[in-house]
Amino acid sequence: MKYAFDHTHTIMDLVRAHRKIILLTDFDGTLTPIREHPDLAVLPGEMYRILQNFSRNKAFFLGIITGRSLRQIKKLVNIPGILYAANHGIELEGPGIRFSSSEAKKARCNLWHVYMRLFKSLHHIEGIYLEDKGYTISLHYRSVKKAGDVEFITKTLSGIVQPYVERDILSLSTGKMVYEIRPPVKWNKATTIQWLLTNYFPLEFNGDALLVYLGDDQADIEVFTALSGKRLMIFVGTPSDTSAADYFVNSPEEVKAFLEILYTQKEEDGNGTLSEGKRAI
Ligand SMILES: [Mg+2]
Repeated sequence: MKYAFDHTHTIMDLVRAHRKIILLTDFDGTLTPIREHPDLAVLPGEMYRILQNFSRNKAFFLGIITGRSLRQIKKLVNIPGILYAANHGIELEGPGIRFSSSEAKKARCNLWHVYMRLFKSLHHIEGIYLEDKGYTISLHYRSVKKAGDVEFITKTLSGIVQPYVERDILSLSTGKMVYEIRPPVKWNKATTIQWLLTNYFPLEFNGDALLVYLGDDQADIEVFTALSGKRLMIFVGTPSDTSAADYFVNSPEEVKAFLEILYTQKEEDGNGTLSEGKRAI
């Protein structure tokens, strides 16, 4: 995988070749560093301003795609008029769309039972954070320091969740120091984006638009794999050979620099699409 800043010219040639850009980005670990506790994450002011510029520029369609709940991500990003794909696509909200999966709604009862059982079995463990996100549950163990505790968590989790997984009532996946318990829907970041590309984006963003995607975790790697080759896929973090992204940057700080270049490039493009009144006042 190539370092994006060693190939800025190639990337910007690709950007220039497209009048419209669909810019989809993950949140945690991509726009903001991963914190010890998810509640501590905030969107840095400069990043907020860059995203706001994208949201007001007609050459771009901006979307945030995250494992967080819709309520949380809207509060954290706080930019109106953009697309929010929350809970890995189970909840969507944006211009002309408001959706939550009916299969996911059906699973809520079972999720609640699982949440209560996990809470009873694990709440005494120091550093654990069990997060009820409505349609999904996240079990964060980043702050759990004792190795024995991590082992206990994995074993307990498996004991409680596995019977639901075997009966296809719930599904279990992993991220960075987090387990995600989700409804058994086939919906994930990759399938959500594929659905959006076919059914959602406005006509002027169909066909010719370039999809730029940024992300740092396992669910994002699924996106790189599903959509690789056709789009500009950027991995955030230390690159590995297994990821199908086109380029990488090292950190959210470098994401900011990349987005600044991307924005400036399109502004300098002079293709006449930018002066249609959607820009910052
Ligand atoms: Mg992430």
